[in-house]
Amino acid sequence: MFPVALDGCTNYDIETIEKILKQQLISAGVSEEMLSEKKVVLKPNLVMSKNPDYAATTHPAVIAGAARALRSMGAAELVLAESSGGPYTETTIRLHYNGCGIKEMAQRENITLNYKTDAAMMQFPDGSACRSFHVIQPICDADVIVNICKMKTHSLTKMSCGVKNLYGVIPGTEKVEMHARFSRVENFAEMLCDLAQMLLKSKTMITICDGVCGMEGNGPTGGTPRKYGVLMTCLSPFALDLVAEHLLGFDGTVPTVQVSTRRGLCPADITQLDVIGADYKNYITNDVVPPDTSRRSILRDFPNLFGGRLVRFLEPRPKIDQKKCVRCGVCAASCPKKTISIKEKGGKKQLKIQNKHCIRCYCCQEMCPKNAVKIQKNFILRIVR
Ligand code: SF4
Ligand code: SF4
Repeated sequence: MFPVALDGCTNYDIETIEKILKQQLISAGVSEEMLSEKKVVLKPNLVMSKNPDYAATTHPAVIAGAARALRSMGAAELVLAESSGGPYTETTIRLHYNGCGIKEMAQRENITLNYKTDAAMMQFPDGSACRSFHVIQPICDADVIVNICKMKTHSLTKMSCGVKNLYGVIPGTEKVEMHARFSRVENFAEMLCDLAQMLLKSKTMITICDGVCGMEGNGPTGGTPRKYGVLMTCLSPFALDLVAEHLLGFDGTVPTVQVSTRRGLCPADITQLDVIGADYKNYITNDVVPPDTSRRSILRDFPNLFGGRLVRFLEPRPKIDQKKCVRCGVCAASCPKKTISIKEKGGKKQLKIQNKHCIRCYCCQEMCPKNAVKIQKNFILRIVR
């Protein structure tokens, strides 16, 4: 099992981050041989065009620090590539680089930004849920993927960290189709672990976690910034996620970690992992606010009760706050079941969700730029609680 290097880091000073990450890369088992004369692709989390202060995206200082540390260990040309939410076009790629503070940082650090939008199929015959993936070209071409994730809560998968960040190698709105295909979170987590396993098998992968300031509440985009004060590095996104799950106080409840534990990709317990550097116990935050959707987890014990209808009835559902909504239509475009439409009410246009067809993937909440999609808990569960 790969060791996880963990250190405290309370600010986004690039020199400090570079120093920490350089030591972490060595401790995690990265060698110069693994990096020199290799095509190294940096894959951050740029889920939407948002200022890094919102903590929805990987902070540019962590990417800069990682780039400097990788260069000092032999990496020559560094390419940055990401397929964010929304369409995978040159225009949206530019928008995200600008909005997330990436463009300026990349120019300064001499990192090549990817603007191409081609993709290719990668096969994974051993996949449990999915045996082939359409993957953006720079990732297909990479020898080394540096997966630079953000430590966040997530409405669907409870936590977004190393494994979930790799979903951003699927081109643009094809991610929406994958949500429709893997509509239950359990299947979605299986698919995410297939994807991570496929990439890990065919490439060298280094996962670096920006947990300096992460997110709590309704992540991955609408939550509240929360200072976790850590940086982590590991050659396995599965092992790193087990540590992140523990630090957030979510032990045993993150679907992707459950799957990776069951597949033997990481142990069931953090005590069976080699966590090196600082004492991880000092970074456990037991009062992290989970996403509003996380209460749905208690229902997973009875997934097939009444043909699954009870679970669907009781699960928290998305609801549009008409006062905040600016009718941009991003949620409708992101909905895998096309269940959001514009209706006229009192002479005014309103976005409405048809709950009957909603699969509770919460993409609408994730992609709404105005935080206008709220999660409404079932009234029966509210009374019981
Ligand atoms: S994405 Fe948000 S602001 Fe835009 S239409 Fe949907 S709910 Fe309204
Ligand atoms: S309405 Fe929202 S939660 Fe429901 S299927 Fe569409 S995107 Fe997913």
